[in-house]
Amino acid sequence: MFYTDTRDTNAKVDFKTAVMSGMSSVTGGLYVPVEFPKVDISKITKDGKPDFISVAVQMAKPYVEGEIPDADLEALIKDAYPFEPKLVKIDGQTYVLELSHGPTCAFKDFGARFMARAMSFFNKDENGKLHILVATSGDTGSAVGSAFHNVEGLDVTILYPEGKISPLQEKQLSTFTGNVRALKVKGTFDDCQKLVKTAFTDKDLREKFRLSSANSINISRLLPQSFYYMHAALQAKYENPDKDIIVTVPSGNFGNLTSGLIAREMGAPIKGFVAATNSNRTIPDWIATGDYKARASVETYANAMDVGAPSNYERIAFMYSLEDVRKLFASYWLDNDGIVKSIKACSDATGYTIDPHGAVAYKAWTDIKNGALDNLDGIDITKPGITPNKPEWASCAKDAVGVVLETADPAKFSAIVKEATGKEPAIPERLQKVMALPDRAIPMENDYQKFKDWLSANL
Ligand SMILES: *Cc1c(COP(=O)(O)O)cnc(C)c1O
Repeated sequence: MFYTDTRDTNAKVDFKTAVMSGMSSVTGGLYVPVEFPKVDISKITKDGKPDFISVAVQMAKPYVEGEIPDADLEALIKDAYPFEPKLVKIDGQTYVLELSHGPTCAFKDFGARFMARAMSFFNKDENGKLHILVATSGDTGSAVGSAFHNVEGLDVTILYPEGKISPLQEKQLSTFTGNVRALKVKGTFDDCQKLVKTAFTDKDLREKFRLSSANSINISRLLPQSFYYMHAALQAKYENPDKDIIVTVPSGNFGNLTSGLIAREMGAPIKGFVAATNSNRTIPDWIATGDYKARASVETYANAMDVGAPSNYERIAFMYSLEDVRKLFASYWLDNDGIVKSIKACSDATGYTIDPHGAVAYKAWTDIKNGALDNLDGIDITKPGITPNKPEWASCAKDAVGVVLETADPAKFSAIVKEATGKEPAIPERLQKVMALPDRAIPMENDYQKFKDWLSANL
């Protein structure tokens, strides 16, 4: 498979290049596969039911063909996924797709664990370790740290702003031993990012070490996320053979939703998508007005979606015209007040405890199945709610089956969940364990020379 560049369609690179470089260093564009081959459904189902590992292996195959042998791919996937997505029915026409059963209790585990193992596979051909530097404002660091922990040939340094991430997030990235470590920087997230970026362009350092990033725009994080869309859609279709499937995605950078589009291109029985955001409504506004206006992000209770300039807009706009996006997507946005109300409404109506990110999707889908797309006249897009856009599937929305993506375990956001429901969510054992581990973060001044000296002495 070749990968092209969203900013230069003449560009053609192999999977290894796309994975190891992350994005095009020439244009700054993002890599996209030149095609999305249809998967043979009979190879991934048994008696009509999908098997997750088979889905993952068959879907990944064409993208790594000629570069990762089948046996290695299968081993890689089995090692990446000792856990599975879980489809839970919460009412007559709604499923929640729980993507939080991985080590860090959030969906980013699916992408990051595949990426780490793909990088490790390709690094075998090289001399010495590959050093990954990541700056994080919270959840990315823990997913990357956990995904790369003890993976051969890779070494990870995470930078985070001291005192500016939640205590649980801090534990999740500062307690590793071995090949993963965290530096708590006396500064902001932007300062952390600047230190990392300066290191990448430092010739001196690059001569000494092979450096790479674990950026969320890496195609090897998006492709594996398509596995759970296929798996869930086939499962929902198996249980509801005569129904259309609509998938609602709580979105920030829109990587997750882009993965859903890939799954649909490959044959997942998904009729349409709902793009659901918090108050960072860049994409709903784009769908409503046709104008894409990136903006500064605003802080919300669904903070992993606080993105004002979603990087995967570039991939979506490369793959589809605005007209096609409008046919395929409904869109919705929700403010903090709505998030709290939605957590409570979900708990009251179904008994299910949903996290603030999933709550955005739950509210969007609930309004849509109750007829929100029937009348879109006079909608003010600056107010929370449905976007005035009628997708092609609008007329069958009330009778469809909805799959709502739950991207994190509610225990990661227990204060907000408790505010909404009055009850503290149960804490999964793996989170309790990490809370009890000793903190190993290394203090670091916000000073490039000091950072460089530390890297030179310690990598
Ligand atoms: C990252 C994240 C999102 C947003 O996903 P995108 O791919 O950036 O749209 C949603 N929920 C949680 C819990 C996340 O960590």
